[in-house]
Amino acid sequence: MYKLCFVICLFFYSVAAKHEQYEGHALYNVHIRFTDQIDVLKTVEAKYNLDIWSYAAQDRPEVVLVPRVLRETVEDELQEAGMEFEVQVENIKEKLDLEDTLLASAAASSKSNRSRSVVEGLSFDVIHTFEVVDQYLVDLANAYPDKVTLRSAGKSVEGRDIKYLRISTSNFEDRRKPIVFVQSLLHAREWVTLPATLYAIKKLVLDVTEQDLVRDVDWIIMPIANPDGYVFSHTNDRFWRKNRARGFMVDDICMGVDLNRNFDIFWGTISSNDACDKSFHGRGPFSEPESAAIRDVFAEYSNRIEVYLDIHSFGSMILFGFGNGALPPNALVMNLLGVRMATAIDAVKWPQHRNYVVGNIVHVLGHVSGCTSDYATTIGIPFAYTYELPAYNMIHGVMVGFLVDPAFVEQAGFETWEGIKVAARFAAESWSRRNRQ
Ligand SMILES: [Zn+2]
Repeated sequence: MYKLCFVICLFFYSVAAKHEQYEGHALYNVHIRFTDQIDVLKTVEAKYNLDIWSYAAQDRPEVVLVPRVLRETVEDELQEAGMEFEVQVENIKEKLDLEDTLLASAAASSKSNRSRSVVEGLSFDVIHTFEVVDQYLVDLANAYPDKVTLRSAGKSVEGRDIKYLRISTSNFEDRRKPIVFVQSLLHAREWVTLPATLYAIKKLVLDVTEQDLVRDVDWIIMPIANPDGYVFSHTNDRFWRKNRARGFMVDDICMGVDLNRNFDIFWGTISSNDACDKSFHGRGPFSEPESAAIRDVFAEYSNRIEVYLDIHSFGSMILFGFGNGALPPNALVMNLLGVRMATAIDAVKWPQHRNYVVGNIVHVLGHVSGCTSDYATTIGIPFAYTYELPAYNMIHGVMVGFLVDPAFVEQAGFETWEGIKVAARFAAESWSRRNRQ
């Protein structure tokens, strides 16, 4: 009895002690009415190194996390510039604790806690840890040697393997088939993206209901593109975004490179040179082993990769290049496929979520440089997109932004799969059409 109480008390103590660094941080919606206000907001955000969760656009506010000690100052500066804002969440730590509680009770009460066989796959009621997913990929490859091969793209800064699965009915040797490459968790805190790749694996290996998807297409699935960052987001800082590179500042006061600003495409032009910034681009293009590993996967299979989907969150968007506003030569077809994917997802999405928005990343989200899908486009991958999955009940719900309600985990996987399927069938068609000519 005492032992039980000790364990329970220890659990609550560790939950209570977590997320202390976010005590009193408030989440703001800042509205942009005039274009010159964009510059004011950017200046304030840069000056105080604020964490931007979502960029403003015509139809939505900028979402920014402001530490408690800066709230008054930031509010004053925004008011001075005549900007409207409101507080979406007064104390984000309460939401962080709530996420822990919801995920812990889902894990305790449900099937995820049961010992599951490999053929059952991972459950879709919690966000699985790095260790669980890493072992799952190994187990799958062992259980389905005819169809699944496990590869490592390379090692992370801290020495973890960046694993990916190759899923193929023809041992990846049939050159009449295109490859669809799907990746998640390049940004560590975007936990809701993991169910998307895990669901794809389930539907391609364990529960194949649409044979053409494996008959006509080979797959590369990389569930955890940024292993160190992902582990750190579980153990230390839930809102960690970058990798865990060191050596930029004395005593490593600020660490990590934004891997989605580290690719060799307009590198360093629209990203941060400040190691403390969440969008720090690193010392040079591909300075980070994680981005170099993805580059090498592109290089190994680039002549057969027809579609590349880099899954992020949040905002319900499907975005294509380029991050400087220029359009790729096939922009019209990219837009067409983007709309088809979005339509498929919208048809099954939760009604309280907004419809997906499709377009060039600058028009929909904002300028970026060094981003993965732009790099994929420049090396000739015809259909490279960045997905931004929905935030669970973004505006009115109990959860916000990057935080995940277990109730949405399976839905996130299921609805995104609808979009991925459209891309895969489109890839099979366009690939065979091009190779017939
Ligand atoms: Zn992201």
